[in-house]
Amino acid sequence: MSTTSRPDLAPVSRHTRTIAVTGSASGIGAAVSRRFERSGARVIGVDLHDAPVVADLSGPDGRARAVAGLTELAGSRLDGLVVCAGLGPQTRPTDRITSVNFFGALAVLDGMLPLLAEGEAPAAVVVSSNSAGLTPAHDELLALLAEGTEAEVSACAAPLDGATVYGMSKLALTRAMRRRVGAWGRAGVRLNAVAPGPVDTPLLTGGLEDPVLGPLIEALPVPMGRRANPAEIAAAIGFLLDPANGYIHGSVLFVDGGSDALFRPDSL
Ligand code: NAD
Repeated sequence: MSTTSRPDLAPVSRHTRTIAVTGSASGIGAAVSRRFERSGARVIGVDLHDAPVVADLSGPDGRARAVAGLTELAGSRLDGLVVCAGLGPQTRPTDRITSVNFFGALAVLDGMLPLLAEGEAPAAVVVSSNSAGLTPAHDELLALLAEGTEAEVSACAAPLDGATVYGMSKLALTRAMRRRVGAWGRAGVRLNAVAPGPVDTPLLTGGLEDPVLGPLIEALPVPMGRRANPAEIAAAIGFLLDPANGYIHGSVLFVDGGSDALFRPDSL
């Protein structure tokens, strides 16, 4: 029997794992970076500021800079990638949300696949949100996110409310993750998503301070009765990147205190 079918027999890694994290300067991305650094991994962050790779993922130039910077710093391979950078539903204009949360995320994800394919037990995680399932679907925006250009998506998103655009950006990102499992599986790279509920970060604080969104966020029932702290989301991401979990591919892990199951118990 080969070691690929018996992960318990696979040789223990002798090199330091290299993990790239977008949105590393704050919130969940910072917690992920701390978690991996504590475990001895080498973490390469990408953010607008306070990161080894400074890049703005809202446009093509910044996305190319992020991929080039990560490729240069990573060297010959990458073992893990966490696509975490994102903007909240309070962001204006609202088409910035799709630019960063969807197009920016996928540009880094796809741009790093060749280097991940060279990694040891490599895996990537995209940070979605439970709002992907809890937000009423906007079919036109969803169809454009699946098939349209970024200009068409922006034109559709700009007049819409931020909560709708945010939810659709995360739903489309999650679907894009699921659509990649064939190609990524053939490349030997696992790909999954986490879908957090409310997490105490600056992004959530911004939403709570919004006069329209704040009361809606406060009103969302959470069976666990509290918000998450960023370290709890980082722990779930660490689980999905762990080589011991080598058969988890194409999954969406809700880390939302039970809200998705409460509202959509029969959605599976
Ligand atoms: P945060 O604001 O604390 O961190 C987000 C980071 O992304 C920041 O460091 C920011 O500078 C970076 N970023 C934003 N725009 C960028 C750009 N154009 N280019 C590069 N970097 C950029 O927020 P957070 O709560 O840690 O959010 C992280 C991810 O988690 C986001 O994708 C968010 O949608 C998702 N999420 C958050 C919550 C929550 O309640 N906080 C819930 C579900 C999902």
